[in-house]
Amino acid sequence: MAATPDKPAAVTPRRKAGRHRGEGQWAVGHFTPLNGNEQFKKDDDGLNVRTRIETIYSKRGFDSIDPNDLRGRMRWWGLYTQRKPGIDGGKTAILEPEELDDEYFMLRVRIDGGRLTTEQLRVIGEISQEFARGTADLTDRQNVQYHWIRIEDVPEIWRRLEEVGLSTTEACGDTPRVILGSPVAGIAENEIIDGSPAIDEIQRRFIGNPDFSNLPRKFKSAVSGSPQLDVAHEINDIAFVGVNHPEHGPGFDLWVGGGLSTNPKLGVRLGAWVPLDEVPDVYGGVIGIFRDYGYRRLRTRARLKFLVADWGPEKFRQILEDEYLKYKLVDGPAPSQPTGTWRDHLGVHKQKDGRFYVGFAPRVGRVDGATLVKIADLAGAHGSGRLRTTAEQKMIVLDVEEAQVESLVAGLEALDLRVTPSPFRRGTMACTGIEFCKLAIVETKARGASLIDELERRIPEFDEPITININGCPNACARIQVADIGLKGQLVLDDAGNQVEGFQVHLGGALGLEAGFGRKVRGLKVTSAELPDYVERVLLRFQEQREAGERFAT
Ligand code: SF4
Repeated sequence: MAATPDKPAAVTPRRKAGRHRGEGQWAVGHFTPLNGNEQFKKDDDGLNVRTRIETIYSKRGFDSIDPNDLRGRMRWWGLYTQRKPGIDGGKTAILEPEELDDEYFMLRVRIDGGRLTTEQLRVIGEISQEFARGTADLTDRQNVQYHWIRIEDVPEIWRRLEEVGLSTTEACGDTPRVILGSPVAGIAENEIIDGSPAIDEIQRRFIGNPDFSNLPRKFKSAVSGSPQLDVAHEINDIAFVGVNHPEHGPGFDLWVGGGLSTNPKLGVRLGAWVPLDEVPDVYGGVIGIFRDYGYRRLRTRARLKFLVADWGPEKFRQILEDEYLKYKLVDGPAPSQPTGTWRDHLGVHKQKDGRFYVGFAPRVGRVDGATLVKIADLAGAHGSGRLRTTAEQKMIVLDVEEAQVESLVAGLEALDLRVTPSPFRRGTMACTGIEFCKLAIVETKARGASLIDELERRIPEFDEPITININGCPNACARIQVADIGLKGQLVLDDAGNQVEGFQVHLGGALGLEAGFGRKVRGLKVTSAELPDYVERVLLRFQEQREAGERFAT
């Protein structure tokens, strides 16, 4: 079908306009934009902003940028304006967006499957040093984020990234975002199936494809054949989780409709087993449903999770099979409970080829360009050409010969990258926070790092797996709802009645087969200054009162 001003090229209305018309679903023929976001997406595809960045904005500077590009379409290429320095969290909700905008950008590099070569990591580190004031954060979606990027430098950054096979295409925006993958895909001894070929094919078919570049909202995905359930599959719009089918062998269990933020929902199983070579087709069917049937009236109801909740898994599977795949999926088993307590692959582990991988932890994902170059050099000097990022803001060096392991570990530790970190460093994540994020109310990264140091000093003997996730606002970039201790940034009152930075506490969230959201502890808010005392008390109480085998979340 040809594109017309009223109808996107890829979509044929599948139903007559009916009672769902009010949700702005394309599949019922409702192509009239119902809000400003839908309007700018209809006016021009977000992908098209690249040409304007290369030919106009990077040459004429920040002030030449069209506002609809600045606060809308630039996301399609991984760019967000960062927060103007010096504006406190109390102003976040009351200022106009343009008053919060700095002239510098955050730029997100997508790392599908978390897979990097040493050469790619070196280039990421060099760009950080040259164009991003040394910033480079590891995110909990296996990406790297820069800050302080000038629009003038963006084309050169793209050139250098693309020269080594990396990109920022659809790293943000209402698009198919980075595809999470098991950080030990293809190497782990206990792997059920390697999902990497499916990730490559999804990338080839769907990323940067104008047929899928105007979705109702972001579309998050994950593919992992690891029995460790290591990609937080429960909170993705679509996830493929490795399972062994009793008749058909290794393949993937299909999950849809997970997502946090406001109205958090865990993904649901469709009860379908998907072989490796059908994963891209099924991904295409689900993203097609989202594009065509997804709600476009309110952005707060536009994620796939709302459609899945309204339809239920049976109807969702039926429409996927009947209207998109045109074949029936095979019924399949659920994943098993993972062995072991951590999902992150830190430490030294044997690969299936007899070599070793070494996972290590910075604090709350914060590294810098110089450190990334040193990591690349260190990995290369120890015979490795490959690394991975994890969904817990950590990294892994692959393919290390046994004789080289000790020296590599010593080199990483010398960079303050812990291979056997404390449970606090291992289990704490923090989002970007007020340092750079325009939605933030409180500081997060430095707060998280100092909390780790404090807890290590105060309770060095604590040895339980624990997750402490810190968000700078009510969104969920650091997954607070599924942490043992989730901290949601907000302004709170101190003892003297002054408004200060602090956190609403959520306790007892978890991922895995016992996944669930933490309880918001009624009225329990702590100031940032009180945070170490509060967390210490909670952990010591747990340690004293727990029963044998009890985990924090249970
Ligand atoms: Fe920004 Fe809030 Fe996301 Fe943190 S959780 S990065 S403060 S939007």
